[in-house]
Amino acid sequence: MAGGYLEVITGSMFSGKSEELIRRVRRVVIARKKAVVVKPSIDTRYSASEVRSHDGNGLDAHVVDVARPEEILALAKSANADVVAIDEAQFFSPAIVDVVMSLVDEGRRVIVAGLDMDFARRPFGAMPVLMAMADEVLKLKAICAVCGEPATFNQRLINGQPARRSDPVVMVGGQEKYEARCRRCHQLAD
Ligand SMILES: [Zn+2]
Repeated sequence: MAGGYLEVITGSMFSGKSEELIRRVRRVVIARKKAVVVKPSIDTRYSASEVRSHDGNGLDAHVVDVARPEEILALAKSANADVVAIDEAQFFSPAIVDVVMSLVDEGRRVIVAGLDMDFARRPFGAMPVLMAMADEVLKLKAICAVCGEPATFNQRLINGQPARRSDPVVMVGGQEKYEARCRRCHQLAD
């Protein structure tokens, strides 16, 4: 296999990260190469076994436990994958970094998509490390839901109110809603 390569697609929610990942994987398939698509078990927004963009495009995906990213190595091996695409990578345990670097060392092209920051504007999971180690990084912007300017932050609203900094990063079953917002419009309660 040719030399491996790491691409990271990042940015806020609604910035088109999954859409861009899907676009790149579609091109791999057109080139008759083998792609394996992975998503973490925590992301069940649209479908248990598909990566979907907000515009409704989808790709079949393997669901991998967030605490066991090393399972991706076996998936890539058994599929003899030229390309491994990992969506919502921020949710995986820190071991995802070694997994991604192993895939690259094996000569595979790895496409990672994920949020660079959480709702409190903190770097999210292993994304900062993956961005630093990548051959190529694309940081996408969304549109601010309040003012219409380019948006780089994730606004979390709980019952319509800005979330508090101390709230857990992942809430299960909460009445929460997210918007993309610019620096000026992003709000965080103390
Ligand atoms: Zn704004």
